[in-house]
Amino acid sequence: AVVFKKYAVDYPVIGEHLEYVATGQPPELKDGEVLTRVLYLSLDPYLRAKMRGHEETALFGRFEIGKPLINHGVGEVIASKNPAVPVGEIVYSFMGFEQYSVIPAGQYIEIIKNARQSKLPLSARIGVLGMPGFTAYGGLLWYGKPKAGETIYISAASGAVGQLVGQMAKHLGLRVVGSAGSDEKIAYLLNDLKFDAAFNYKKGDILTSLKSAAPEGIHIYFDHVGGSHLEAALEWLLPLGRVVMCGQIGDYNTANPPGVRNLFVCVPKEISILGFLVLNFNDEQKAVFEKDVTDWLLQGKIIYKEDITEGLENAPAAFIGMLQGKNFGKATIKVADL
Ligand code: NDP
Repeated sequence: AVVFKKYAVDYPVIGEHLEYVATGQPPELKDGEVLTRVLYLSLDPYLRAKMRGHEETALFGRFEIGKPLINHGVGEVIASKNPAVPVGEIVYSFMGFEQYSVIPAGQYIEIIKNARQSKLPLSARIGVLGMPGFTAYGGLLWYGKPKAGETIYISAASGAVGQLVGQMAKHLGLRVVGSAGSDEKIAYLLNDLKFDAAFNYKKGDILTSLKSAAPEGIHIYFDHVGGSHLEAALEWLLPLGRVVMCGQIGDYNTANPPGVRNLFVCVPKEISILGFLVLNFNDEQKAVFEKDVTDWLLQGKIIYKEDITEGLENAPAAFIGMLQGKNFGKATIKVADL
């Protein structure tokens, strides 16, 4: 299992904050519980918030010291005391970062229908068809309220959420501008995802790059980073512009984030800043998202890049790497073959 050892202020360190350790046999199942052989686990930036010392800044509670990390995963049921979830099914649920994980009685667990015959990979359930896909879809459509002809700027644009926001916005007739942290990622945005413009934010001043990528200003900023990216976007947003505040990864690994100095421009320009949390979207919204995105994937209207790390033992390095921009696409751990 990958065990959480200590709360972290800066980037977590392998051995000090996270460690892959041998554990014993899975426990005897109690009524309602399900034992899964874990196949895929998702690495998401929000897990970093659960590693903070302060309960109030942790999302949905901190990780418990000495216990495995927990996140969205896909697994095969190998023992069950839940009659609704038979042995042999492939399920999606929250799972421990373990080879074998017990899903507690009463926890949300979904049987993936026709999982063994699906044309889409099982890993998609924690990526494009899971939480990041839902975030992109709902954040863009319901919060960004995009209109054809508008310009959107997306930071961390090659990542799990960003790559989808950009493609969806293109289909809706927007002009799409993205930023990312390497030339390889920029080439992907321009050549594969057909963004209209993209820049490497590590090469030069962000506002200057944004101005030349979107000379007429931007209507929507889809924020994944915060800090200097948000500052530049606020400066370059047009009147009545919208900021979809999805995340602020630039601030997650420091106790003293620099903050944003020009928030006041929201007053004269009447800019709205709209925060949202994917977990608060409802079942009706989920059904619409799943149908649309499954159709688009099968029709080849959107593509999706995953960054799959093989082996649970490599999860700590992959997680820290994702926080530092080493992932290229949706950060995913493949724990075992089906
Ligand atoms: P990504 O796959 O985009 O991975 C994180 C990326 O962030 C890295 O690859 C890196 O890319 C970039 N990054 C890291 N540090 C910095 C920095 N200091 N400055 C600029 N870029 C940085 O992650 P996700 O797509 O899963 O998540 C993106 C954002 O969306 C996060 O902020 C996350 O918290 C948020 N989120 C919010 C949800 C919600 O419900 N509101 C749900 C899901 C995600 P690069 O090489 O480009 O620097």
